[in-house]
Amino acid sequence: MTNHFFALVRETLPADPSARILIETPDGRRCTYADMLARTGAYANALTAAGVKPGDRVAAQVEKSAEIVFLYLAALRAGAVFLPLNTAYTAGEVAYFLDDAEPALFVCDPAKREALAPVAEKAGTCGVLTLDAAGHGTMAEAADAHGTDFADVARTPDDLAAILYTSGTTGRSKGAMLSHDNLASNARTLVDAWRFTPDDVLIHALPVFHTHGLFVAVNTVLASGASMLFLPKLDAGLILRLMPRASAMMGVPTFYTRLLKEAGLTEAATARMRLFTSGSAPLLPETHAAWRARTGHAILERYGMTETNMSTSNPYAGERVAGTVGFPLPDVALRVVDPDTGAAVAPEAVGMIEVKGPNVFKGYWRLPEKTAAEFRPDGFFVTGDLGKVDARGYLHIVGRGKDLIITGGFNVYPKEVEAEIDAMPGVVESAVIGLPHADFGEGVTAVVVGSDDGPDEAGVLAYLAGRLARFKCPKRVLFADDLPRNAMGKVQKNVLRETHAALYRG
Ligand code: AMP
Repeated sequence: MTNHFFALVRETLPADPSARILIETPDGRRCTYADMLARTGAYANALTAAGVKPGDRVAAQVEKSAEIVFLYLAALRAGAVFLPLNTAYTAGEVAYFLDDAEPALFVCDPAKREALAPVAEKAGTCGVLTLDAAGHGTMAEAADAHGTDFADVARTPDDLAAILYTSGTTGRSKGAMLSHDNLASNARTLVDAWRFTPDDVLIHALPVFHTHGLFVAVNTVLASGASMLFLPKLDAGLILRLMPRASAMMGVPTFYTRLLKEAGLTEAATARMRLFTSGSAPLLPETHAAWRARTGHAILERYGMTETNMSTSNPYAGERVAGTVGFPLPDVALRVVDPDTGAAVAPEAVGMIEVKGPNVFKGYWRLPEKTAAEFRPDGFFVTGDLGKVDARGYLHIVGRGKDLIITGGFNVYPKEVEAEIDAMPGVVESAVIGLPHADFGEGVTAVVVGSDDGPDEAGVLAYLAGRLARFKCPKRVLFADDLPRNAMGKVQKNVLRETHAALYRG
């Protein structure tokens, strides 16, 4: 038996692995596919020597580097389950994840070792090693001390490859268990859907503790034998300078809004690029249009989540429709249903999005009841996202089910109100939330980011009056300098709801 995921990596290896770059970093370091094989072998030996056994978790909270990618692949080769943690998590938050996942080994930044070692010890890990942004630390040293030959531990398609904790914008984080085939099947699907080949060079500026940067981006590159320009973080100027050497970029919407502020973003600057994808948060149709006008490229928007990998994508060859996330990927079944009854709704009607396929995770770590509650008896996963399929089959995401506002018994989809407000002159963006309200249950409330000459509260309300049914119009419009966002650019409506919870009280 092979190691299911790493067998895919081996299958697509270039004929001469030392002749093709896998990762190039801005400091000029280049790692070839041969380096990847050697380094992941050394790390896998080091993990095994540190006591990591097949099925054990290896948790890592480290800055982005080529080495962390190698550690991820080494964990899979050793049969372990990789558990990346957001670098922004505090010691208290890390304690929760380590207590919950009980990893055998925890790898952290050397600067945080003193604070985190007691946390890891309390959680019962057998060791704490370190790795910094430059790829140095006791984990790397342990790898240096080992040989590079390693016999991959056999893993079936259903064996766990990773646990990724959900971002927890609606409650406590849950560990999504992803199997070797969840990752391998989705990587294969995306290589085909987005036509990746060994000639591709991907600009990678996403974090690698999240599904987008780690699986969508890294795995697609590995499964096509392509290369990546690996940036520690979003740096619009640097991305622009790299574009003449690249062919594709995967980003969250913030990448595109930031790049649009660069005077150098022109058709000529992007002439060598063949693909720009966006996901993890909604891309405004205005951003899509502005990008097209400036560069001639239509951004390809896709939809997925930690629990499902990628589920839908706008077409590579067909029309990429702004404000939609396209069609289900070839091996994904998708339906939109009445959340209460589970019955399919008519085309164009809004309902709960449910998906089924080899992309869908194995359940939440040690939460069988929570897992059972989010799967239908026929195996469809209830995503928690509301959406509709239009007459042409394109899926539109309306928002998280938990963000739906129920006011005076009427449903208000925040996106519909946000779209109207965002179209107003002088408005940069908005977030519409429901806040506790004695009469209505929830009061529709808009938080607006305006420009200097933007409208005031009365102006926004007057503008909306003729455009939206009365029950959809905000009761109050608040103004902010910006909206709270997480590392993936998602607006944190839970934070807004907490901040303004008392608005209608008293
Ligand atoms: P995460 O698990 O952090 O990847 O978050 C997944 C959630 O992000 C989904 O359930 C959606 O609510 C949202 N999301 C992902 N891609 C898109 C998209 N293209 N448009 C709108 N929302 C998206």
